[in-house]
Amino acid sequence: MVSSLLLLVALASPPGEPPQSDPGAALPTLLPRSAQTVQSGWEWVKDTKDGFEQLDRIGERKLGISFCTDTLDAQELLRAATDLPYELRDWVRSRHAVRPEMLALMVRAMGYLKRWQPGSTITIGDIAQRGCGQIRYGTIVHLDDDADAFLARSRLEFGVPTVTELLDAWAFADEYPRMDDLDTPVRVERIATGRTRDGKLRIETRRFALGAHVTERRLDLLLDRTSKRFKSKAAGAIEWDLVEHDDGSGPVRLRRGTFFDPAGGIWSELILQPGVKGAFPLRPDRIARIREAYVDLGKPTSLKFEERWDFDYDGEAGVHVTRWFLEYEAHHASHLSGLDADLSYVTFNNYGHFSPILALMDRVGSWRWMKALEKAARDLAIPLDALFVDPSVLRALKTVEEAGKAEPAWKKLKRSPGHDSHVHVRIRPTPRFHGKTLTEIIEMARL
Ligand SMILES: [Zn+2]
Repeated sequence: MVSSLLLLVALASPPGEPPQSDPGAALPTLLPRSAQTVQSGWEWVKDTKDGFEQLDRIGERKLGISFCTDTLDAQELLRAATDLPYELRDWVRSRHAVRPEMLALMVRAMGYLKRWQPGSTITIGDIAQRGCGQIRYGTIVHLDDDADAFLARSRLEFGVPTVTELLDAWAFADEYPRMDDLDTPVRVERIATGRTRDGKLRIETRRFALGAHVTERRLDLLLDRTSKRFKSKAAGAIEWDLVEHDDGSGPVRLRRGTFFDPAGGIWSELILQPGVKGAFPLRPDRIARIREAYVDLGKPTSLKFEERWDFDYDGEAGVHVTRWFLEYEAHHASHLSGLDADLSYVTFNNYGHFSPILALMDRVGSWRWMKALEKAARDLAIPLDALFVDPSVLRALKTVEEAGKAEPAWKKLKRSPGHDSHVHVRIRPTPRFHGKTLTEIIEMARL
């Protein structure tokens, strides 16, 4: 089998063996692609439910290092058209890459909403990440213009240029209730996973919460299951390689094993201490790090619920084990290239956008918003595939008096459990707005 397990690792870490002087030396060059190429590539990957085949396909299309350049940033819409009452769910997560035709739809639809439901605002949630591609669990993707500054601050951690900060959870108090434990530190890890030809770095950010004290019993169980996994005889389940690592005391090479069992839904990584060649019998003093995560074949490469166990070996005091959990960050099977957008419903007094509490939703206003989206698509000849809403939302919309059965919006409203806090708008591509600037699109689409 081709080295597909390492490919899975490579999606989060560049391959190769970089020299110690430059943590960025081994970073792959990101390939510029059209958003449509990236989208159809990922759709082809998801066509198969064989986890190994998925990895082979990702490798074949080079999706791990693809990078699309023909999207716009919906964030800019708020600056360029201040009379369109859009808001952003947040300004930090960079999930607003949008195709021109989706942006046009949003401009026109808001024109109708302003007429039909004056005073209402709409909040923009996830659209697509910078550079397109699969939006993975717990992962935020940015592009960093100042590659030198990042790399100067970074260290090679387990083969990847990494900047780690330990922050007080109060730094994220705004995100309550998502970051609900304000007493423990949050580990913010930023890693570089590629460089564009014009020198921008692709940075992936993950945040980890500190786990409870690791008991003997827990540790035994961990070692036990890790041992079993890495002794597995299943074909292709395990691969070993070497990674360069610098904990501040100079670079060393560490043996890394990856275990992948897509059928069982498990991914695991085992990294050994410097100089340790054999893993077995698996003892704490031989281990540098263990990671475990769940595999979701509907969302290839998006490893869920990662737990990470750091082993610090101190000859005198023994081994200290710290456990970290990856903080939640939505992953999406669609949202690949800016043709899918999560937009809020209309709520009373514009309060509680993206809240799943149905009582906050203004049924009449939300119905008008659905109607606005449908009409805007028709006006502009943008193929609207669907407006996905939760069954509870659909039931609520059906109680709206003005929503007559003959309204064309009903044909676009599709039941989709989980879309209780937002409508997921999906369109198909159309070339009419391609190559246009944001200002041109606003002019073309404005009511
Ligand atoms: Zn969505």
